[in-house]
Amino acid sequence: MQRGSLFVLSGPSGAGKGTICQKLLADTDIHLSISMTTRQPRQGEVHGISYYFTEEEDFLARVEAGGFLEYANVFGRYYGTPRDAVLEKLNEGKDVLLEIDVQGALQVKENFPEGILIFVLPPSLEELKKRIVGRGTETEDAIATRLGKALQEISFLDRYDYYVVNDDLDQAVDEVKSIIRSQSLKVADRAEALIAQYKEEN
Ligand code: 5GP
Repeated sequence: MQRGSLFVLSGPSGAGKGTICQKLLADTDIHLSISMTTRQPRQGEVHGISYYFTEEEDFLARVEAGGFLEYANVFGRYYGTPRDAVLEKLNEGKDVLLEIDVQGALQVKENFPEGILIFVLPPSLEELKKRIVGRGTETEDAIATRLGKALQEISFLDRYDYYVVNDDLDQAVDEVKSIIRSQSLKVADRAEALIAQYKEEN
């Protein structure tokens, strides 16, 4: 069986990667990895669906045991991608999607070079600010921190394989779908099996 591909969607908070992910999940059979975090659940978030919520001590013990494909400290809280669950899905032939921050994406590229990194860009910094303010959940200070972090993250764009500008949501989703589709059409290590198939027919 052909192993699945690992796709990493990242980019500044507010660029819309979460919404793009939700659309992809609805429209394709890609598997979304559920991260573990030490932050508190927000209203409506469910353990095991939004995140696996845990304590810092437990999280750090898992780091020690090599339990994460990547992990990062984002705004003072830990977030990590459970390694085994991802590898299991890939081995079952499923494509897996990670929605993580830039620090994490760069670690994935190091630990798992065949992972495909997709950067979701906001149309402009001004638009990003509008979106963050529009959420109404952040203080002035937190907004400034997020914008500063966004610029810092965008400076790592050259380490990514693809970028998508999230101006029009449907178009951005279509573009990510095209990236996923083109990956499944790569010859890569499929050549032998494909050639054999045609020879057999002959
Ligand atoms: P939030 O707390 O708003 O859900 O997420 C904050 C940031 O953490 C977002 O940029 C999100 O993509 C990132 N994040 C979520 N899960 C992970 C993870 O497993 N690893 C890393 N590195 N970042 C994550």
